[in-house]
Order: sequence, then C-alpha cells, then structure tokens
Amino acid sequence: MLDTATRNIKFLPGVGEQRATLLNRELAIHSLNDLLYYFPYKYIDRSKVYRVSELGGQLQHVQLVGEIRSFEELGEGASRRLVAHFTDGTAYVDLVWFRGIKFIKNRLKTNARYVVFGKPSMFNGRVNIAHPDVDDASSLQLDSMGLQPYYNTTEKMKRSGLNSNAMAKLVQNLFKLLTDDIPETLSPDIVAKHGLMSLNEALHVIHFPKNLKELQAAQYRLKFEELFFIQLNILSYSRDRQKRYVGHRFSKVGEMFNRFYKENLPFELTSAQKRVVREIRADVNGNRQMNRLLQGDVGSGKTLVALLSMLLAKDNGYQACLLVPTEILAEQHCATLRRMLGSLPVRVELLTGSTKQKERSAIFEGLENGNVDILVGTHAVLEDNVVFRNLGIVVIDEQHRFGVVQRAKMWAKNSIPPHVLVMTATPIPRTLAMTLYGDLDVSVIDELPPGRKPITTNHIFRNRIDSLYSFIRGQINEGRQAYIVYPLIKESEKLDLKNLEDGYKQLCNVFVDYKLSKLHGKMKPKEKDEEMRRFASGETQILVSTTVIEVGVDVPNASVMVIENAERFGLSQLHQLRGRVGRGASQSYCVLVTDYKLSEDTRKRMEIMTASNDGFEIAEADLKLRGPGDMEGTQQSGIAFDLKIANLARDEQLLQYVRVVANGVLDADPKQESPLYRVVWERLRTIKNMKNWNWGAIS
Ligand code: ADP
Ligand code: MG
Repeated sequence: MLDTATRNIKFLPGVGEQRATLLNRELAIHSLNDLLYYFPYKYIDRSKVYRVSELGGQLQHVQLVGEIRSFEELGEGASRRLVAHFTDGTAYVDLVWFRGIKFIKNRLKTNARYVVFGKPSMFNGRVNIAHPDVDDASSLQLDSMGLQPYYNTTEKMKRSGLNSNAMAKLVQNLFKLLTDDIPETLSPDIVAKHGLMSLNEALHVIHFPKNLKELQAAQYRLKFEELFFIQLNILSYSRDRQKRYVGHRFSKVGEMFNRFYKENLPFELTSAQKRVVREIRADVNGNRQMNRLLQGDVGSGKTLVALLSMLLAKDNGYQACLLVPTEILAEQHCATLRRMLGSLPVRVELLTGSTKQKERSAIFEGLENGNVDILVGTHAVLEDNVVFRNLGIVVIDEQHRFGVVQRAKMWAKNSIPPHVLVMTATPIPRTLAMTLYGDLDVSVIDELPPGRKPITTNHIFRNRIDSLYSFIRGQINEGRQAYIVYPLIKESEKLDLKNLEDGYKQLCNVFVDYKLSKLHGKMKPKEKDEEMRRFASGETQILVSTTVIEVGVDVPNASVMVIENAERFGLSQLHQLRGRVGRGASQSYCVLVTDYKLSEDTRKRMEIMTASNDGFEIAEADLKLRGPGDMEGTQQSGIAFDLKIANLARDEQLLQYVRVVANGVLDADPKQESPLYRVVWERLRTIKNMKNWNWGAIS
C-alpha cells in the first residue's frame, strides 16, 4: 500500500523537483500526506448558473454561460484595458482585463460558448467583471462540479503557475494514486456513536464536496478528530503525571498562617478569595502534586492568595518561591509581602538579574540552609545554581510569560516536585485554557474586593488632548495620581524610547506645577526603584512610563490611566494596563488616545474596551479578533497552534464535547491495551512524532 506519510511530494504526477521545492518552502508540504491535509479555505458553488440580466454590483462570485460578441481595446497607460462584450441572450456584460491583454485576445474567440466565472462590480453605471475565469463550455460539466475548492497559495507560487486551480489538480492526481481507502484513525465505537463520516470519505469530500450538507459532515468529522487528539494527548499526559508525582503534604494550618490571618490581615477576604484558598488547601493536603491555574481579573486580590498559600508551606516546614515576569514587579511584590507580614518571623528575599553578587551569595546560603522562607524573583530563579533546601510551593504570577518549559524547570528543583500555583489576570478563554493547560485545575476569583467602582473608559483622538490634560489636572487637584503610558516594542525600541522622552518633556511643560516620574525598562535598577518609590509614595503625581508597569504594579491612589497610541496595543494588554487603576475606592478613568485614522480592527478594539470591564469577555473577543496563534503566551508556552481545520474561537462547544469523549477513552482503556482503541493510540503516537504537529511538544 502507498504510504502517503513518507512518500515525497515530488513524485506526485504534476509536481517534479521545481514545484516540490516551492511546495516545501511556501507551504511546508513535503509528503503526500501534507497535501492531503492542505484543506481548501473556501468553496464556491459552481452548480448554479446566473443570467446576465440578474447581475448587480453587490453579488459575490457568479457563473455565466454565453458568448462573446466583440472585443474592444480602450484607454491609455495604466487604464489600458481589453473589454469583451459578453451575452447569454438576456443582457450584456463587460468582461475586462487590464493585464495579459495579448494572451487573452489570442485565446478567446467571438461566438464560441464559454463559461465565465468572476465577481461583478459596477463601473460608470454598467456591470462588469474584471479578470474573470473563462473556460470552454464543452469542457465543463457544471451539474457535477458541485462546490469548487479554493486553496491558499502564495505570490511566488502563483508566478510559477501554482494557483488554486493547479493545487486542485494536484489533489485530484493524489486521489488517483490512492487505490485503497485511507485507514480510519478513530475507533469504530466513536465513529458509530457520534455519527461521524469515515476518515476516507471526509478527506475526499473536504477537497471536492458535491454539496453543502456533505461538506459540513466532512468538516465536522475532521474537526472532531483534530480536537479529540489534542485533548487525548493532554489528558493522558496529566493522568500520567498525577500517577507519577506524589506531592508534599501540607497537613496543618499552623502558626504563621493563623497569626497572619487574625492579626495582620487589614481587611476581610472576599468570599471568592476564601473559596480559592480552600481549594488550594485541599490540593496541598492531598497526596498529589498541585497544579492549579488561578484566574482572577486585575485587582481581584491574587497576591494575598499567593501569600496565604506560601504561609501554608512555611508552617509545614517548606520554602516557597514567587516567580514574576519583571524586575519592577518582583521588587514591588517583595516590598508588599514584607509590609503585609510585618513583624512575623518570615524571611522574604528578592532575587533578580540585577541582584549584586554579595547579596546573591547571602541569599543562596539562606536558600540552602532553609533560612529563607519566601524567595521572590524573576527568571533568575530558574538558573541551576539556585538551590533550595526544601522547596514546597512555587507561585507563578502573571503566567503568560512562563510556559510549560519554565514550569518543568521548577519541578526539577526538588526530588519531589513542588506544588505549583499559576496566577493570571490575562484571563485565558476557557477553550484555550483547556487546550493549553488541560493538565491544570482551574480556580477563579470572580469577585472584586468591596467598594470598587467600575473604571470609566473613554476613547479620544489626539486633537482633544488639551481637554484630557485639564481633566488630569482636576483629578490631581483632588489628590489623585495618573499614569501616562507609551508603547514600547523591541522592533522599534529606539524610536519608542524617543517618543517617551519627547512625551515626557512635553508633559513636564504642560504640568509645570506638578512633579512627574519617568520609568522604562532601560533604566538602571536603582533609578527604576527610586522613580517607582516616588510615585507610590505620592511624591510625584504623574508617572510617564512604558509598558513595564503593565502587570501587577499596585498604587491604589492612582485614578487615571492614559494610554498613548492605544492602537498599537492588543486587547489583553490594554485591559492589563487599565487594571493599574481602579484599585482604590475612588472612581477611576482609563483614556485611550489614538490618531483619527483607524483600521476596522483597531476601531473594534477601542469599542470593546470602552464597552466592557470584564477581562473574560475581553479575552474572548481578543481570541476572536486575533486567533489563538497570536494570543500572548501561546508562542512562549511551548505549544504552537497548528490547527488545520478546527478553530478555538468558533469550535468551543465541540472542544468540550470531545474532551468528554477523550476522558471516556482514558477511563475505558487506562493501560492503552484494548484492541478496540488500538487505532486511537497508534494515531496519537504518530501525531506526537510529527514535526509540524507542535502541540505534542508538551510531553
Ligand atoms: P491582582 O489580583 O491584580 O494581583 P492585588 O493582589 O494586587 O490584585 O490586589 C489589588 C488590591 O486589592 C491590593 O491593593 C490589595 O491590597 C487589595 N485587596 C486584596 N484583597 C482585598 C480584600 N479582600 N479586600 C479589600 N482589598 C483587598
Ligand atoms: Mg497581581
């Protein structure tokens, strides 16, 4: 039998060396299988023939059958064009070509029957079709053509004649080679129970569907399969890990936890915080390693949950580590924890890339002899020379900067891997969380501390900036503070920093009677500290900064967040930045400043931001606008998304459904030895071995 997975694409009739190179480079198609799974991105119904008299300017693609009566060459230079007057007897329509005029004129004849296919538009009050496909009517059997597949191809491919039509021909050639059915990859019980089309039929139909109903059945089957194996992979991985890893047991709630709770806590925990602490407590008191994702919108009070969890570790004789993505956040967290703990005998230390060698040695010593109870740090903590005496729990704050790989590094710091609590305010939409972190249990803080007022968000164009400045002045006069944030991305770092400096100078002129702080990642740690401290203590009223303050920074008195060039930020980032205000009791404001001219996409983002304060809603919208591949975090997570047909934003229900199916298979055949599921396990192994199937990388 022909092995489509290993057979090189260059041996397919119609391909050869040159085209094979193109297919390799442009579309990563190397084997026959790669082509088989290169699905059309759209289909056009070619079973319907329109009458010319029916045409108007707003139709999508149409198909006409008729004859060309005459040709005409019009215009000069760029508007030079060939016009063919085409009719089917009901009316006339102009077919127009701006390029390849000579070629078309030689090929097409008057008074021969043609099938014309293209998109009508209106020009000077007349309907015309620019650059239509024109085929000899006798060569096309329209009633059997069904839906015509359209394949994405690149400019380079098109220049070598590898357009969508040519791709369709190649797929046809491929099917001619396949004398046997393509083997089934799902077990017969699953296929039967869920009424799925066979894989063989689905693959044929997805390329050449006869009608919409058939196409939908094929799409369903292929999406089902794709999502099923993702879930099966991650679920079997997580069951396996649960079996292998026993966790440290924090059996008692001891002195530090109790004293902190009774004496140091300045406020009552929200009921959501209490529930989450109970969930964590149940995990660490069991006999398996905790892996929990804590989602809570900005300002919901996750830091406190982290501290309580770490105190549980301390009370049971273990050390704890709080990992954060930026130095500024690490410094702030360290200060916050020390302040909250007050005089309790809990030693908190800070380790970042800029910790001095001398301090570093002292910290290392404390970690090894167990004197340091809580280590707050950045990536620096992951290094091999950071050795704990007895690490019991790792809390990872603002998780989207830490992927699977980093988590695994922390597990390796002990012979018994520590419990892991991942906290995030960038709410990962449910579908994505299930796919990315299907191995984590999820807790949600769905309640903000009492007394918070929803943040008012406005979008203004830059020409109204003066009224914004007087608004800020008003807020400062009432004793509040303001952030003004400028974008900074690696690609345009120099220019962005200059914008920040210019902006800062200008703002100093505007707000002459106030004090301003300035903050960006390129400053020395000492300076950063100092500027942050001045703002946090209220010495300065305005903090002009890059996105270094994006996550975690907590100055409750700040009530205004101005985001300059808001068009350059993604939704999640905007929401994160907005979360820096609204942390105290006073009404807070977020103002998005953009240019007047905006793309459709940007306009939508601004609308969503002004309409919603709900991080989950925003994350869902973000997923829909950008697609999962672009989601912050998916790239760093070690799992790239290469879904061929399913769509995480649209196929959420199906994903949840197949998760149940996958769990069922794992329940029914935990040892992976039942003949019934042999095809399924074999397929899973194959998928994991595929190079371009990256989500297998998790195991
Ligand atoms: P985030 O979830 O964004 O990390 P933080 O932990 O920084 O939120 O908490 C935001 C602010 O809310 C902090 O100033 C914190 O002290 C305060 N806070 C946390 N929990 C409560 C609570 N139960 N009641 C009142 N204020 C709280
Ligand atoms: Mg936080």
